[in-house]
Amino acid sequence: MRTCLILVGLALGTPLSGARAAAPEARFGGFGEYRVDASVPCLTDEQRAEIQARISAGIRTLRAENLLPPPAAQAVSFDWPVRLKAGLGDPGFHGISNFVDHDPGYPNAVQDYMCGTRTYDLSNGYNHQGTDVFSWPFGWYKMDHDQVEVVAAAPGTIVSKSDGNYDRDCSFTGSDWNAVYVVHADGSEAWYGHLKSGSLTPKAAGQTVSRGEYLGIVGSSGNSTGPHLHFEVYDAANHLIDPYAGPCNSSTPTTWWTSERPYYDSAINAIMTHDAPPVFPACPGEETLNQRTAFTPGETAYFAVYYRDQLSGQVSNYAVYDAANALVTRWSHSSPSPFYAASYWYWSLTLPTNRSNGWWRFQVTYLGTTYQRPFYVGDPTAVAGLPAAAGIRFIGGTPNPVASGASFEFELLARERVRLVLLDGEGRRVTTLSNGWFGSGAHHVSWDGRDAGGRAVAPGLYFARLEADRRAAITRKVVVAR
Ligand SMILES: [Zn+2]
Repeated sequence: MRTCLILVGLALGTPLSGARAAAPEARFGGFGEYRVDASVPCLTDEQRAEIQARISAGIRTLRAENLLPPPAAQAVSFDWPVRLKAGLGDPGFHGISNFVDHDPGYPNAVQDYMCGTRTYDLSNGYNHQGTDVFSWPFGWYKMDHDQVEVVAAAPGTIVSKSDGNYDRDCSFTGSDWNAVYVVHADGSEAWYGHLKSGSLTPKAAGQTVSRGEYLGIVGSSGNSTGPHLHFEVYDAANHLIDPYAGPCNSSTPTTWWTSERPYYDSAINAIMTHDAPPVFPACPGEETLNQRTAFTPGETAYFAVYYRDQLSGQVSNYAVYDAANALVTRWSHSSPSPFYAASYWYWSLTLPTNRSNGWWRFQVTYLGTTYQRPFYVGDPTAVAGLPAAAGIRFIGGTPNPVASGASFEFELLARERVRLVLLDGEGRRVTTLSNGWFGSGAHHVSWDGRDAGGRAVAPGLYFARLEADRRAAITRKVVVAR
């Protein structure tokens, strides 16, 4: 599958006319969408045949070695096969570009499980055979920073995998993908394709994986021009299964999902503040986020919201509040287009100079859910002289309690040197998680649950302490429970 980002930047750069004392007003800045360009298959017929032969051989070998039990009559249910890396806070991170094509005709004869057209086929007879789940927004950034993980949708045994194939090939050259193939207890199999090179689980064929276990990072290996997971399923008789239940899906009468997501899974994936519009370069360039958390009064900030499955008529109500929780400005918007698999909209606002400084918030309410993004308005040069809480926001670690690992998130108003240490209940240093310079904005530091000597720490109470030069430290409780 090819995907590309179509940018329709409508930078309405009209200067504000009239009195400058008018109430601050957000100005529409631009819009973009992630459009599916379905001109090549995720897999060619030759590649699919080669994979099927490899899986069959793998199954035979493992059965002969008693590493794979014979199929049992046992229903398989799938959990969602992707997740955001622990500790990241965005409310969403994916979209669906293509479902399985149930119309055997071609080309331009497509029908997804709901009798819609969210799938594709090609003139050579290819009908899309999987579910494509793409990372959104900033798919390349997410891939380069290992932010979206592919996990086992159901427990099973790895029967084959391939790694080391190039993952930034933006022209269709028929290159192979990186993938993990898992057989479940009932003999059905799931293919997890397009994984990032070098990111695959170290487990080999014959080893089992549990539900939700890490398999790799969402990547763009093989025939792909944007990071996404191609999830393809077969039953024990090797019939292609579309795991969604719907009137135009004859491959299964009931859903294979533990909790099936709606056909239009409309939601906001991210809400952000920027100092310039985000930049989406051509494949395979990593996006430039231009994300910023701290602003000076009088500066222009960009407020952006990133949607999946946005439909016309769905109203978004946006608002900006100052540090005293007083409304600065609000506006609303609804998409004029029937459907976007992924879209983003942004507005610019010159931050007024006569408001309460400190942590402001950008807020959007969409389909009954309110999403918030805090940002700082004040004098960044004064950061070093401020108490720690004014210059640094230490969100702490997630998950908490910690079982095997955690990710700590903090935000800085300006570039500075930061040390993150883990202390035990008596205040003794257990390990140093990070020590170095960080720019303004949000940062994540992961911890593998081990002390400085590499040993897993004992269950109990710990403290994560974030220290910045010349200022008081901020401490957060960490509970380790194994
Ligand atoms: Zn696909």
